[in-house]
Amino acid sequence: MSHDPNCLFCKIVAGQIPSRKVYEDDQLLAFHDIHPWAPVHVLIIPKLHIASMAELEDTHAGLMGQMAVLAPRLMRELGVTNGFRTVINTGQDGGQEVYHLHMHVMGGPRPWAKG
Ligand code: AMP
Ligand code: ZN
Repeated sequence: MSHDPNCLFCKIVAGQIPSRKVYEDDQLLAFHDIHPWAPVHVLIIPKLHIASMAELEDTHAGLMGQMAVLAPRLMRELGVTNGFRTVINTGQDGGQEVYHLHMHVMGGPRPWAKG
């Protein structure tokens, strides 16, 4: 399934739920997390509905690479100069709450609210 009508992040991709977008291309979307842990906290997601990292297949390797490459670029553009943290929560024990693959990218001066 490339789009899940019940998925929160698919609704954000479709524009049915608003988000504070920071980046968009054919494959990816990035937007500010609604409950930031850090002064800068964005989520990078594929537009394709992939429920979690546990569902990744070989064909997704390029997409994951694009997400990884986008993270430092967005941090630079958002003025983060002293390092950042990337987190991908997977499944129940991984603490995943939204089942559409996403990479948290957090930066900015400490202390942070969390993490
Ligand atoms: P995770 O626990 O890795 O699944 O994280 C899900 C993240 O999505 C949390 O950090 C939430 O704050 C964030 N989130 C949930 N709903 C929204 C939304 N409508 N817009 C932006 N971020 C959201
Ligand atoms: Zn989805």
